[in-house]
Amino acid sequence: MHRRSLLALALATPALARAQSAPPLPVVASFSILGDMVRQIGGDQVTVHVIAGPDVDAHSFQPRPSDAQALRGAALVVRNGLGFDTWMDRLLQAAGATSAVTATEGVAVRRLSDGDTQGHQHGHAHEHDADASDPHAWQDLRRGQVYVRNIAAALQAADPARADHFRRGVEAYLQRLAALDGWVRAQIATVPEARRRVVTSHDAFGYFGDAYGVHFLAPQGISTESEPSAAQVARLIRTLKREGITAVFLENMANPATLQRLATEAGVKVQGRLYADALSPADGPAPTYEAMFRHNLGLLVRAMRGEG
Ligand code: ZN
Repeated sequence: MHRRSLLALALATPALARAQSAPPLPVVASFSILGDMVRQIGGDQVTVHVIAGPDVDAHSFQPRPSDAQALRGAALVVRNGLGFDTWMDRLLQAAGATSAVTATEGVAVRRLSDGDTQGHQHGHAHEHDADASDPHAWQDLRRGQVYVRNIAAALQAADPARADHFRRGVEAYLQRLAALDGWVRAQIATVPEARRRVVTSHDAFGYFGDAYGVHFLAPQGISTESEPSAAQVARLIRTLKREGITAVFLENMANPATLQRLATEAGVKVQGRLYADALSPADGPAPTYEAMFRHNLGLLVRAMRGEG
């Protein structure tokens, strides 16, 4: 062995050994999709505590005292921002000086006034503001890649000894997400443009719709915190009938009652359950961010083509 490589080995080994023998970096994520992103980047070098877990609606989430406790041991806290997980601000205050990263930092934000959803004509207090931000930016895989870059940079800053490990993790992950984005576009391209119309429970798919050219309608606005009015539901039923929309879906973490009623009154069959604001448990159909897209696309494409 050359002297130079022996020297390099001698210099590299202690740092490497330290990084690998140190306990995994403790990270807290506000909801399941962010938790999965941290795991995909960090692998076995992170432990992830997710506060709003699988199938949980983060919009209306009420943190428990034990959630504040989890933040105290965290080296890094990851949140979505854009008004989605505002309860995390209170937890961070309660926990004191924990470093936090906002995953949507730098994403192009969709405003309610950008869309023609029903939500901004009615609904809850914050939707009276036509400039309110749509928080569901993870539903566009290109914006999702911005999330992943932000999280990786924060992991590297929180644990410089593992920076190389995180860099390799994020590079592989970004390549998979870019490939998945291309696959999603190819899938949507198999649906005639006039049939790219979908009804879901709430406006969780505005970014998806903008990115992939699908028109989403929902009885509920961008938050799930209040019920839609009877007039909103009646108007949506008329739209469904008039446009012959057959792609009608429940969401995994939302109350199914309104949408079931809407489908019955419109005489259409509910086509299944889309994963919107939360992943499934590990043994479900959408345990990761990538699996969520594959599952949702499978359902969406069949239903939009009228094969349901
Ligand atoms: Zn939502």
